[in-house]
Amino acid sequence: MSWQSRYESSLMNTFGTPKLLLTRGVGAHVWDVDGREYVDFLGGIAVNSLGHAHPTIVDAVTTQLQTLGHVSNFFASEPQLALAERLLALLETDGRVFLSNSGAEANEAALKLTRRTGRTHLVAAVGSFHGRTMGALALTSKAAYREPFEPLPGDVTFVPYGDADALAEAVTDETAAVVLEPIQGEAGVRVPPPGHLAAARQVCDDHGALLWLDEVQTGIGRTGAWFAHQLPSGQGVTPDIVTLAKGLGGGMPIGATIGLGRAGALLEPGNHGTTFGGNPVACAAALAVLDTVAQDHLLDHATALGKTLRDGLGEDPRVSETRGEGLLIGLELTVDAPSVVASAMAAGFIVNATGPSTIRLVPPLVVSADDAHALIDAWPAILDGAGETS
Ligand code: PLP
Repeated sequence: MSWQSRYESSLMNTFGTPKLLLTRGVGAHVWDVDGREYVDFLGGIAVNSLGHAHPTIVDAVTTQLQTLGHVSNFFASEPQLALAERLLALLETDGRVFLSNSGAEANEAALKLTRRTGRTHLVAAVGSFHGRTMGALALTSKAAYREPFEPLPGDVTFVPYGDADALAEAVTDETAAVVLEPIQGEAGVRVPPPGHLAAARQVCDDHGALLWLDEVQTGIGRTGAWFAHQLPSGQGVTPDIVTLAKGLGGGMPIGATIGLGRAGALLEPGNHGTTFGGNPVACAAALAVLDTVAQDHLLDHATALGKTLRDGLGEDPRVSETRGEGLLIGLELTVDAPSVVASAMAAGFIVNATGPSTIRLVPPLVVSADDAHALIDAWPAILDGAGETS
């Protein structure tokens, strides 16, 4: 039986049948079951920040598992403490961290935290993606994701992304929080106008609402800063809540909900919990990621290679716009993006379409200049192999 048939007869059809069965990876390269090699510009959807099989993560996870693999939240562990302290230090704040296992879970915890303000109204953005669990889905704008599962919890107003006037109109003294991605990832790498986060901060302050930044996709070096709101475009904004997942664990499942300052005290004993959250192995992996990003200067590397990729790929006239920061890259095309994905795969590159005309690249932060130039060199032929935009 083919692996596709095995997949179709054993796994729920939530994703469609995958195109490849991958068997191993090293750095930004992966191999499929037939031994074909691909350069991975998707990185597990912005997760494999150090690429595949990075020795520091492998060592950290192996050592931790050999020492203490799981303890439950009845007990503390050193990696859990160290990770919470490191995240607060990177955010240059006091506050408190809740550790979980995914982006959706990080956002569920944040949503519950906002309820502890005594308010229930939330403001989110059109084009937002915050996850698939019911609370996170309530904040996710795409109708196709929401409608089969309505009614969803909460009282959420959606405003156009980056529209400060619409935001000011939507937020009232009843608003618990405004939730924003500093750059929208799933929507095709949408960057807000300069000053938008500062405007959102001001609106929140005017009404006593919390500013919640979902950095699940943008966090941990992806944009060339530890957090996207720390880029110059963030204008020094300090949020009240930051949610993280994806690149934090470098492939090990982990999520983090960070309440900065007083927001860190809103959840009290009995308000929330998770069996696996703060698992020492996942925390050890996250610490290895943070150490390596710092030691190997991966923030600067992400900034430099992001520019190389945007400039190089953007030279083709069939690219009408390049967007993003660091290694969170959106390319708007005049040709059909899903067929570019197929054409790239045939040429040995994994890229991702977020829509009919948009390609997203979120490679490992360790992707090499040679790999970037290989994609740039192959790009015109990849686009030649694609169809017209439908
Ligand atoms: N928030 C953002 C900004 C995301 O991009 C995603 C996933 O793409 C999520 C939340 C959900 O994360 P997870 O798939 O780990 O639940």
